[in-house]
Amino acid sequence: MIDAVLFDLDETLLDRTNSLKAFLRDQFARHADHLGQVRLEEWSARFLVLDRRGHVRKSVVYPAILGEFGGRAEHAGALLADYRARCARFAQPFDGMKAVLKELRARGLALGIVTNGETEFQSRHVEALELDGLIDAVLISEREGLRKPDAALFLRAAMACRTEPSRCLFVGDNPVADILGAHAVGMRTAWFRGAAEWPSDAAPNPGASIDRLSEVLSLVRFQAAQ
Ligand SMILES: [Mg+2]
Repeated sequence: MIDAVLFDLDETLLDRTNSLKAFLRDQFARHADHLGQVRLEEWSARFLVLDRRGHVRKSVVYPAILGEFGGRAEHAGALLADYRARCARFAQPFDGMKAVLKELRARGLALGIVTNGETEFQSRHVEALELDGLIDAVLISEREGLRKPDAALFLRAAMACRTEPSRCLFVGDNPVADILGAHAVGMRTAWFRGAAEWPSDAAPNPGASIDRLSEVLSLVRFQAAQ
């Protein structure tokens, strides 16, 4: 029986790659004079590589990319501040996000978000996706002082949803931080795989794999019937 569904945010509820591309298009247009000899397509593609799906801090990415294209190094701070202030305006959810969350709530499930990131930045994205009224608990690593895959963070999330880890389904895109982390505390898991392969050097995927958020609905029904 599942009482709660916990979601990662970036690349799980938030279509981060497409959101970031939309932001970069806007930022490029406003800051083009400082970025060096580069076209938007090159800048955006290189940014995504350096960003490594959000794993590299933008305080590292901006100086690096300015250096590569001969931009003004002293402009890195302004670009970073602009990213922090405006990125969330371009937040786009994955298909059907809101309908899926509403349906899960209608079935009486508690809903949570567990995300690694900066409190203010991630909170702005939660707000931009209009998740405030749909989610019971939002745990952000900076605010919690814990990062996935730390077991304590998953346990805290279950507690915030007033249930046991074994009665939680965790949905996320990161095999190690999300799926193996949640599995280690006894949660059911659904890997939102996108185009990624499960890493060959990690333990096998212990749970379901999904390609669309709407598949969560059948997983919960299936698991609830067990
Ligand atoms: Mg993620």
